[in-house]
Amino acid sequence: MEVRFWGVRGSVAASGAQVAGIGGNTSCVEVRCGDHLLILDAGTGIRALGDEILRGGGPGTLTLLFSHLHWDHVQGFPFFAPAYGHSFFLRLIGPGAEGDRTLRDVLARQMEPPNFPVPLSAMRARMTFEAASPDTPLEVGPFRVYPFAVPHPQGCMGYRIESEGKSFVYMTDVELSLRTLTGEIGSALAGADALLIDAQYTPEEYEGEKGPCRRGWGHSTMIDAARVAFAAGVRRLFLFHHDPAHNDDMVENMAEEARAYFNAAEPAREGKRVLFGERSLCA
Ligand SMILES: [Zn+2]
Ligand SMILES: [Zn+2]
Repeated sequence: MEVRFWGVRGSVAASGAQVAGIGGNTSCVEVRCGDHLLILDAGTGIRALGDEILRGGGPGTLTLLFSHLHWDHVQGFPFFAPAYGHSFFLRLIGPGAEGDRTLRDVLARQMEPPNFPVPLSAMRARMTFEAASPDTPLEVGPFRVYPFAVPHPQGCMGYRIESEGKSFVYMTDVELSLRTLTGEIGSALAGADALLIDAQYTPEEYEGEKGPCRRGWGHSTMIDAARVAFAAGVRRLFLFHHDPAHNDDMVENMAEEARAYFNAAEPAREGKRVLFGERSLCA
């Protein structure tokens, strides 16, 4: 199993030399096992991933898992080139009891006039829409996926993904601390080989010592993220959903501070690949 980060920024994309080291695209993460591909969220990072899939000639079946439907997690979808190719099959999975219908509506609405000139119906790929629920693990090729609910305005889904005896947890957009860590979330994280977690704010920003108080906005501090990772006994931690106002130095400094609480913490960087195990066993 291999994970690659295509978009690591939160809220809105950022550009310029000051963010070039970490990357400015919004949420999109690829999980690959042999020819099988899982895509987590469709922020602006999914555009370049789509181009790479076309260059590589496939695979023809792609599964997209959405954490939730806030703008920064869906806005890249109209620019995802494989969705326009009739040889592709997209299995789209969204959060919540009505995840299938809601997901289809949200993706269609953002492509309606006056927001966008090309409608969802112009996409030629075959698409199916499904709901993800915390009670129902999903089988996707060699992956077993365990959805779990996390605290965030309008709700959000985390995903624990297991394959080849390894585990990766994708938990973006969550306002969490040791105080609010529930048994359900704790067991979803427990012992993961790698955890990706929302770490958008510094404690000073969160408490409103710099600018507005961000309590209740749905995001965690890098210190709470590190404490949660330590408590859950994960092996590696990737700080994610970087604030668009934070330049490379700021993100690196936040990771350095987080390492005082969990030493295997690092910022998720656009383009970075994470290998699980010496070599993949997936065919
Ligand atoms: Zn977000
Ligand atoms: Zn959100």
